[in-house]
Amino acid sequence: MNSHILLIPAERYADLKATGKLPSPKGVAFAIIKLMQREEYPDDDLVKLVQSDPAIAGCLLKFSNAAITGQPRPIVSLRKAVVALGAFRVRDLVVGFSILSANRKGSCPNFDYEGFWARSLATAIACQGLAQFANIASDEHFTIGLLSRLGELGLATLFPKEYGELLAGEHQAAQLSALEIERFGFDHRQLGATMLEEWGLPRILIEAAYHHEDPAAANLSASTRLCTLTLSLDFARVQAEICMADDEMRWSLLPELLTRSAHLGIGAEALSGIVDDMVVRWHEWSAMLQVRTRDMPPFSQLLAASAPRPVPSAYNMPITALIGADSEETKELAALLTSLGHEPKLTIFGQDTTPILLTPPKLIVADIDLARSEVVAICHNLRQNPAGQETYFLVIASPEHEASALSAIDAGADDVLFKPITAQNLRLRLNIAERLLLLREGIAHERRGIVRTAEEFAGEHRQLIEVALTDALTDLPNRRHGLDYLATEWGSGHAGQRQLACLMLDIDHFKVINDTWGHAAGDAVLHQMAARLKSASRAEDMVFRYGGEEFALILPGADLALALGIAERIRHLIADEPFYFGEQEMRATISIGLATANGDHGGADSLIQAADAALYQAKQRGRNCVVVAA
Ligand code: GH3
Ligand code: MG
Ligand code: MG
Repeated sequence: MNSHILLIPAERYADLKATGKLPSPKGVAFAIIKLMQREEYPDDDLVKLVQSDPAIAGCLLKFSNAAITGQPRPIVSLRKAVVALGAFRVRDLVVGFSILSANRKGSCPNFDYEGFWARSLATAIACQGLAQFANIASDEHFTIGLLSRLGELGLATLFPKEYGELLAGEHQAAQLSALEIERFGFDHRQLGATMLEEWGLPRILIEAAYHHEDPAAANLSASTRLCTLTLSLDFARVQAEICMADDEMRWSLLPELLTRSAHLGIGAEALSGIVDDMVVRWHEWSAMLQVRTRDMPPFSQLLAASAPRPVPSAYNMPITALIGADSEETKELAALLTSLGHEPKLTIFGQDTTPILLTPPKLIVADIDLARSEVVAICHNLRQNPAGQETYFLVIASPEHEASALSAIDAGADDVLFKPITAQNLRLRLNIAERLLLLREGIAHERRGIVRTAEEFAGEHRQLIEVALTDALTDLPNRRHGLDYLATEWGSGHAGQRQLACLMLDIDHFKVINDTWGHAAGDAVLHQMAARLKSASRAEDMVFRYGGEEFALILPGADLALALGIAERIRHLIADEPFYFGEQEMRATISIGLATANGDHGGADSLIQAADAALYQAKQRGRNCVVVAA
C-alpha cells in the first residue's frame, strides 16, 4: 500500500519540462534510463555506457567497493562492479552523480548550490551507513540520500528569481513548503517526487524522500520498510546538518540527533562511531566528487562539549494532558494533537485536576477561553510542586483573552498560542516544547551525573582514608588506626561495662632473621605473620601493626580466660608452622603480653602500657610464651 504523497499534475509538469530549465539526467545517465526502459537489453550495453564516462565509472567502482561487504578482493573491473550492484542500482547512482555534476552552480541568488551538494552528499553517506547498521539492504540509501532534496534544486533552477526572493525572506524551515505552495502551486517535495518518478526511481525511495522532512505527519505504519527508510533519511539529514553547521548550531542540533538515534535504537556510543565514520567517508567522497566540506571534531568531543546533554528517553514525550471543555472545539484540538503524534488525555473543566497536579505530565495544553481563572489556578498550583516544575505548559487563547493568557504566563505557563489554531502553528509550538523538555531533561540528567560524581568522589575519598590508615607492608591497620579503634572501644566498653583485652606481640630474635636471611626475608615473615594473626583472630577483633616487628590485638568483650585462650592459639600458630621466603624455610616465635581492662579506670593508654609491661616479662621469662599483666 502506498503512503499518501502528492505529485504535480501531468499537464503542469509537462509545462515545467517544456521550459527546458528542469534539472535532468544528462549524457550517460539519460542513455541508461532510456536503455533500461527497453524490455530487454544486453548487459554489455550498460557496461559500455558507464565506461564512456570516466568520472561516473570511477564513482561506481568506489561505491561498489564501499557498499558490497564480504568481498575478498577489491572490485577493479567495471563489469564486475555493474554485475555486483545490479542494473537498477547502477542506473539510480548514475542519475544521482549526473544531476550533481550538471548542477554545481546556478543562477538562483540565495540558493547555496555548493552547500546543497555538500549536505546532500553527507545525507547520502549517513543514510548508507545507517542501512549497514540497521542491517537493511543499503542499495537504495545512497541515491535517495543524495537526491532527497532534489525539489529544492528544481525550484532554484526553474524559478531562480522568485525562489531566491522566497529564500531571502524571514521564515522557519517548517514554513517553507507552505510558502512554496502559495507562490508556485506546489512545494519542493512534490516537485522532487515527480522528477524522481519520471526518472524511474523506485517508489519507496520517492515516498521516503517525500516524507522524511516530517515523518510524524506522514503517519507511516511502524516497522515497515518505508517507515524505517524514512526515519533513516530524516536521521541522516540531521547528521548532515550537524556536519554543515557552525559550532553553536551543532550544539543546538544535538538533541534532535540523539532523539532520532534513540528512536532507531542506536545508543550514544554506537552513534559516535556512526557519525565519525560518516565524516571520514564524507571527506573521501567529497574529494572525489569535488564537493566542498567542513571539518568536524570527533563526535564524542561534541557530546562532551555540550553542557546540558539531552537524554534520548525524552523522545517518548507525547504524554500530554489537554484541559478544555466538553465542546467541539476541544475535541478538534484533541484530534489535532493526536494527528501530531500526541496522545492527549482530556481533563474537562470542573473535573478533578488532582491527578495532573500529583503526577504532572510532560506537556499540558490548556484552552484558557473556556475557564480563565481555572487555568491560571492550575498553572499556579502545578508550579508549587517540584515535579510540576518540569512540565511544559502551553496556553491556547483567543486574541481577546490576551490579559488572561498573560496572567497564566505570570502564574508559570511557558507559552501562549493564539487562535485560530492550525496544524502548522501548533506543530511549531510543540516542537519548541519538545526542545525545551529535552533541554530540561538534559539538565536533570546532568544533575544526576553530578550526584554520581559526588558518590565517586566519596568513594575515592574513602580509599584515600583507607590508604592513610593501612600499613603498606602487612596490609594491617597501622598504629594510628589501631589506637583510635582502641580508644573507641574503650569508650563504649566503659559505658556498657563491657570487657576488653589487649595483646602485645613481639617477634623473638627478629634481628637474627634479618641478619641471617636478609631484610627482604624479614619483610616476608612480617607479611605472613600479619596474615596468620588475622586468620587466628575473631571477626570483632582488631589486629594492627604497632610498629617494627611488634603487633597488637584488641579483643572486645573478651575476659581473661578467653583472651588467654586466643593468645595461646596465636603463639602456637606462629611457632608450629614455618615461614617462607621463596624456597627458604624460616622458623619464628613470638612473645605475648596480655592485659584486660576489666574494672580498670586508667584509660586506653594504661591498657597498652600494662600489656607492654607483660610483654617485657615474657621476654624475661625466655620468650615464646604468654604473660598476663599483674
Ligand atoms: P627480641 O625482641 O626477642 O628481644 O629480639 P629482636 O631481635 O626482635 O630485638 P629488637 O626488637 O630490638 O629488634 C627488632 C628488629 O626488627 C630491629 C629491626 O631491624 C627489625 N625490623 C623492624 N621493622 C622491620 C621491618 O619492617 N622489616 C624488617 N625486615 N625488619 C624490621
Ligand atoms: Mg621489638
Ligand atoms: Mg623482637
